[in-house]
Amino acid sequence: MKPINVVILLTLSFEYQQQIHEIHPVLLKSEGNLVLVDCGYPNFLPQLSEAMNAHGYELEELTALFITHQDDDHMGAAAALKRLYPHIEIVTSELEAPYVTGEKRNLRLVQAEAVLASMPEAHKPFGREFVARMERLEPVKVDRTVKHGERLPWAGGCEIMMTPGHTPGHASLYLEPFGFLITGDAAVVENDELVIANPHFCLDLETAKASLEQLKKLPVKQYLCFHGGRI
Ligand SMILES: [Zn+2]
Repeated sequence: MKPINVVILLTLSFEYQQQIHEIHPVLLKSEGNLVLVDCGYPNFLPQLSEAMNAHGYELEELTALFITHQDDDHMGAAAALKRLYPHIEIVTSELEAPYVTGEKRNLRLVQAEAVLASMPEAHKPFGREFVARMERLEPVKVDRTVKHGERLPWAGGCEIMMTPGHTPGHASLYLEPFGFLITGDAAVVENDELVIANPHFCLDLETAKASLEQLKKLPVKQYLCFHGGRI
C-alpha cells in the first residue's frame, strides 16, 4: 500500500548552450490531492508526464499546480497543462499572480529588455533570443492565490513562505511533517552550502539575501532546490 503523504522530487533534463541542465519540479501527494510544484519550460509536458509516470502518476491526476514564480522554467508549461486538464487548480502567491496571468508585464522580460539595451553588440544576439523567449511565455489563469503563513493540506501539511527577491512574489513551501523546504529559486545548493540561485537574475538582491536568511532559520531537514542540490 502506498503511504498517504508522499513528496517526490522529479528530474527533468535538457540541453542548453551545449550543456546538460536539470530542473526539479516536486510532486506532493496526500489524501485527495496531487500537487505539482512548478512545471518546467513551455513544451515540457511530455517529459513532465514521463517523469511522473516513472513514479506511477499521470498528469491528469494532478489536482493543483503551485507556481513559485513567473519565470518560464517554472510556469512555462502551465497554460498548456491547464488547457489539457482544466480541472487542475493553478495556485500562486497573491503578489506573483498578476504576472502569472499576464495582467502585469512579466518582470523577467522587463529586465531582459533593459539588459539588452546596454549590452555590448557582440552579446546582443543572445540578449534578443532571451527577450524573444520571454515574449513567447504564455500567461495562465490563476484559480487561487495564497499569502505568507497560509497552511495547505498538501503532503500532509505545508506552509507558504514568502521569499521575495528573485521576483517580488516568489514563494517557497515548508513541508513541516517532513522537515522539507521547497525553495523554488530562493536558494540553491553549491559546495554543500545554501546560497542564492543565479544572483544576477535577482530583481532585488538585498531582499533575496534576507529571504535566504529567513529560510536558513527554519528547522529544515532537507532543502529541495529547483535548480539542483539537496542539503
Ligand atoms: Zn528557475
